[in-house]
Amino acid sequence: MIEIELLPVMSDNYVFLMFDPATGTSGVVDPGVAEPVLARLADLGRGLDWILLTHHHADHTGGLPALRRETGARVAYSRGDTGRIPGIESGTDVAVAEGDVLTFGEEAVHVLETPGHTRGHVSFWISGEDALFCGDTLFALGCGRLFEGTPGQMWGSLSKLAALPPATRVYCGHEYTESNARFALSVDPENPDLLRRGAEIRELRGRGEPTVPTTIDLELRTNPFLRVNDPGIRRRLGMEEASEIEVFAELRARKDRF
Ligand code: ZN
Ligand code: FE
Repeated sequence: MIEIELLPVMSDNYVFLMFDPATGTSGVVDPGVAEPVLARLADLGRGLDWILLTHHHADHTGGLPALRRETGARVAYSRGDTGRIPGIESGTDVAVAEGDVLTFGEEAVHVLETPGHTRGHVSFWISGEDALFCGDTLFALGCGRLFEGTPGQMWGSLSKLAALPPATRVYCGHEYTESNARFALSVDPENPDLLRRGAEIRELRGRGEPTVPTTIDLELRTNPFLRVNDPGIRRRLGMEEASEIEVFAELRARKDRF
């Protein structure tokens, strides 16, 4: 049983603390900054064993040098990001790729390559906990921008995540849900699950509460980027006969302009 805690940092990033009480193993996912992580660890009287990085962007990795210096934690990072994450030490840290399995406490952490936002992006799936850390690939009601990948690559990555067990809790890297909901409703305005969720999200954010984690099941029912086969969305885009990738690319392009 791994405890997962959200730590909101900067304007809209989430850092996630992981803890396995059985073994005392402590980890952090995507620490864009070090100070709030160190402060929280001190509150909890915890050290740090592992730093998991989904991709090289500074808002996910910036805290690495200070965290390592203060805690001596090891880093697991994508092999595809070799050479572009400041603070990596090739002797101690672990470069991971598709199919690799890390051990965190008593749990297996599966590495899934999920390129599209960046070419080296990976996600970490703790199968025994139904927990997924997917960085800037899948968001609640949205998906990451295509900075280095093609629509086909991102669609492949999203399809891989969508195939995980429906109960999987999705810990994504940003709180973008409210603006994502506005876009989702613009392309899927009659979806009753989405209408209900939109209202819940406005309420949560009105109280300053997070909308993360979401679940794969909820995303499959409400996230337009996973619903490219929905007849209503296709009709609205005038793309009844298009391929899945074409519909995905059109949705992503519209979101960029939204
Ligand atoms: Zn990013
Ligand atoms: Fe980010």
